[in-house]
Amino acid sequence: MRILVTGGAGFLGSHLCERLLKEGNEVDCIDNLFTGRKANIEHLLGNPAFEFVRHDVIDPFKFEVDQIYNLACPASPPHYQYNPIKTIKTSVMGSINCLGLAKRLRVRVFQASTSEVYGDPQVHPQPESYWGNVNPIGKRSCYDEGKRCAETLFFDYHRENKVDIRVVRIFNTYGPRMHEADGRVVSNFIVQALRGQDLTIYGDGSQTRSFCYVDDLIEGFLRFMAQTETVGPMNLGNPGEFTMLQLAELTLKLVGGKSKIVYKPLPADDPKQRQPDITLARQLLKWEPKVSLEEGLKRTIAYFKTKV
Ligand code: NAD
Ligand code: UDP
Repeated sequence: MRILVTGGAGFLGSHLCERLLKEGNEVDCIDNLFTGRKANIEHLLGNPAFEFVRHDVIDPFKFEVDQIYNLACPASPPHYQYNPIKTIKTSVMGSINCLGLAKRLRVRVFQASTSEVYGDPQVHPQPESYWGNVNPIGKRSCYDEGKRCAETLFFDYHRENKVDIRVVRIFNTYGPRMHEADGRVVSNFIVQALRGQDLTIYGDGSQTRSFCYVDDLIEGFLRFMAQTETVGPMNLGNPGEFTMLQLAELTLKLVGGKSKIVYKPLPADDPKQRQPDITLARQLLKWEPKVSLEEGLKRTIAYFKTKV
């Protein structure tokens, strides 16, 4: 197949492009390089089956493809809050442009949604049926509400125009090619530990997240796109749940060195807990994550050692 990947020069996008090429597909990658980097796809640029186009998904685009994956959107809180209006435009207009293209071409289109649609959840762990607890006017809203609106658009195009959608809700995923200055917790802790700096825990470190290694997630993407039982939404993530203090301690154990843990103020609306209920993915995709947090951190640390 010829497959379009928006946000293909980012962390997840570059792994997805690589995997799709490995499976024998041709890939068109579009990215405005806001948080993505050409370095992430440098090894693919010489491949005749791969094409990179620098383009902003807010502006319309035309491609002749058999499938679309929409990943374009900054994902780390400091990056998506840098220009919040642009973030929401990216989610909403980027989705409309992908859906319009999918409608015209009559092809399957995938949306990278997020566990953030559950906000600060009052149901734990979170099943797909949970509607969430999201602040519509806070600092995270540009991302959370942008992604929620994107889901609405996907389902309206599906109902109204029979567009063949797949919506996946991704829970915190980490791995090689995260940006050193990305600001998300796994990359922050690893980079701080490797530089001998103190690890910055926001709040008291009791808040939890569930961390999925990138290779597991991409396998889930492909299985979800290949099946015809459900259009989603489908949770993909690792149900192993850790406090930020546990993550900091594990990172220090694996990196070694003399860094200490320091505590900084907790950002507004920071969710207190998060764990995916992946019953649906287990049943329909026969999928579950294989890489433990310790193993995934080791692989990610090895990558950052070459960067910092
Ligand atoms: P990332 O920031 O590395 O990748 C996002 C990519 O989109 C970057 O390459 C960026 O340059 C590009 N982009 C941003 N705005 C754009 C625009 N207007 N036009 C074209 N390209 C644009 O982040 P990531 O972790 O790889 O996330 C990829 C997708 O997965 C995002 O949609 C994100 O919301 C979603 N997601 C990721 C996670 C995670 O834990 N990694 C969790 C939930 C959802
Ligand atoms: N966090 C932290 N130190 C950091 C970066 C983040 O303690 O240097 C915390 C953050 O407050 C949140 C958790 O780690 O509670 C996960 O943050 P991240 O930005 O990675 O993802 P998200 O909040 O979007 O799940």
